[in-house]
Amino acid sequence: MQVDYLIVGQGICGTFLSYYFLKENKTFIVLDRNEEITPSKISAGIINPVTGRRMVRVWMAEQVLPFAHEAYRDIGQLLGITAISQKSIIDFFPNAHQRQVFLERVEEGEQYLSAYPEQNQFNFFFNYHLGCGEIRHSYIAHLEILLPAWKRRLIENGQFLEESFEMQKLLLNDSFIRYKHITAEKIIFCDGLSSFTNPFFKQLPFAPNKGEALFVEVPGLPKERIYKKGFLLAPLSDENLFWLGSNYQWSFDHPHPTKEFYQQAELHLNAWLKLPFKIVDHKASIRPATLERRPFVGLHPHQKNIGLLNGMGTKGSSLAPFFANQLVKNILYHEEINPLANINRFQKMLSR
Ligand SMILES: Cc1cc2nc3c(=O)[nH]c(=O)nc-3n(C[C@H](O)[C@H](O)[C@H](O)COP(=O)(O)OP(=O)(O)OC[C@H]3O[C@@H](n4cnc5c(N)ncnc54)[C@H](O)[C@@H]3O)c2cc1C
Repeated sequence: MQVDYLIVGQGICGTFLSYYFLKENKTFIVLDRNEEITPSKISAGIINPVTGRRMVRVWMAEQVLPFAHEAYRDIGQLLGITAISQKSIIDFFPNAHQRQVFLERVEEGEQYLSAYPEQNQFNFFFNYHLGCGEIRHSYIAHLEILLPAWKRRLIENGQFLEESFEMQKLLLNDSFIRYKHITAEKIIFCDGLSSFTNPFFKQLPFAPNKGEALFVEVPGLPKERIYKKGFLLAPLSDENLFWLGSNYQWSFDHPHPTKEFYQQAELHLNAWLKLPFKIVDHKASIRPATLERRPFVGLHPHQKNIGLLNGMGTKGSSLAPFFANQLVKNILYHEEINPLANINRFQKMLSR
């Protein structure tokens, strides 16, 4: 079989990469081994314009956020699903300092933040003694709907193979690659954590980061917003189901859910939420993060028929559409990839 591109991995990166190739009328096969738990599958899909204790804007917020909104809306239209919803985040201040920081940022004119006028609106649902603010222009990308819908579409079009990629079966030629029965112009890896051991990319400064989440039924809690107080409590598409997370561990012994996280999150929810709730699941996965906290995007500087779209870290929902599009435009029209994301910046490292 002859195609333009072979894409390894159908997480959020492989999904948007194949979407943008489709829009350019390119042919491709997406190969994925259908792991039960992946970061894309357990992510809440939250797109938050501000970050950290200082409530500063996320990297490239002005470009990436509107781009992501449009990208999810368009792919959703193509598939006949709702792939994204705008939902503001209600930020319940966990302490006096955080409250002060938030209100200072509002005074400074930060347009993403507002001192929420209806301070008592959530009294029936939550315990909060220090008030709350609102983070506007936030979104939830419904990855639990989008990823299976895109996979179904690829299967219908004969563009999907469910199997594990085996590096030893990859043959490289100057102008094409061959993998089993597939011949393609290029192979592009969107395989998350697997790239960390890929012989072509393992030199890159990846920095795996583990995160856990609880899946909680909360009958009666309105689903129009995301709630935050230390943890984030985000509505999922199933009735009454919410996602509670997460933690960020740079050092860990195993990839599995831990009793410590479960207990800490349950205790927190007991103190915060006034409504009865039931924990129905607990999952953990490892984010494909990077030391510099910037993605890895582009063609291998010394092997032009191998590419990478990875390193989305904690922000895959917002960064993946933007950089998938940049990679496609780079391959087809030689448009520039943001230098802070382009793997060219590791040219020397990748020549070893
Ligand atoms: C608990 C948690 C919460 C998160 N919450 C958010 C959030 O709210 N917002 C946000 O923006 N980000 C969030 N993230 C981060 C986000 O999930 C990641 O940045 C993103 O999912 C990475 O997507 P990816 O496509 O690069 O990788 P992955 O999701 O890992 O996808 C890789 C795909 O490749 C396939 N694959 C791997 N190896 C092979 C192989 N050898 N052969 C075939 N297939 C293979 C896998 O099956 C998988 O489908 C969260 C992450 C975690 C862990």
